[in-house]
Amino acid sequence: MSQTAKKDEASGGNGRYWWRKPDEAKCTHPQPKPGDICTHCGEGKLAFDGLFILACDRCQQIADSGGFT
Ligand SMILES: [Zn+2]
Repeated sequence: MSQTAKKDEASGGNGRYWWRKPDEAKCTHPQPKPGDICTHCGEGKLAFDGLFILACDRCQQIADSGGFT
C-alpha cells in the first residue's frame, strides 16, 4: 500500500513529528489519592472504602478515575 508512505510524507517524511514535545506527559490527569481534599465538596477527604473505591468520606463522591463509567 502506498497510502502509508504518502501519509508518512505528509507528516515530514522523516518520521519525526515536530509538533510533539518529547517531554509531553502521557497522562495529564492528576490521580486522586487517599488523603486528598475532595474536589466535589472541598471539605471531605478521600479514602478507600470497603470496595477499594476512592471516595469522599463526607459527601461520598467517588473520586477514583480508574475507568468506572
Ligand atoms: Zn466530598
